[in-house]
Amino acid sequence: MNILVSACLMGTNCKYNGGNNLTPRLLQLEKEHKVIPVCPEELGGLPTPREPCEIQKGSGKEVLEGKSKVLNRIGEDVTAGFIKGAEETLALAKQNSCSLAVLKSRSPSCGCGIIYDGTFSGKLKEGNGVTAQLLLDNEIVVMTEKDFE
Ligand code: SF4
Repeated sequence: MNILVSACLMGTNCKYNGGNNLTPRLLQLEKEHKVIPVCPEELGGLPTPREPCEIQKGSGKEVLEGKSKVLNRIGEDVTAGFIKGAEETLALAKQNSCSLAVLKSRSPSCGCGIIYDGTFSGKLKEGNGVTAQLLLDNEIVVMTEKDFE
């Protein structure tokens, strides 16, 4: 099976602060599957390192519908980059016939079910990141690293 995985979970230094979220248990996936690492925020043209970003009102659904924005911590509107990153990620999923994605929890791009609430205070709210939402809308199953604990 071909599986899309958030690149930071596989150890790529694409996180906002230039680090990663290496999750060793996910490396096991490579034994039996083809893993395609992706970082939607880099695919959307955002630099690394970068200011952290959070979805303001609602979640990825509202961003994709044009009803909300993604802002970074210094108030810049990065919505267009997030949408581009989601579209590029979906294109990669289709090119590689991926029906499953394992994405980083809580991220405004990759989070699934719960994301940061937009206040940059570490608080959470229900909803999906922009990329997770677009993948779900295209019938791709989305899990997070928490599902592998
Ligand atoms: S966009 Fe996703 S893959 Fe990229 S650093 Fe953030 S959580 Fe990781």
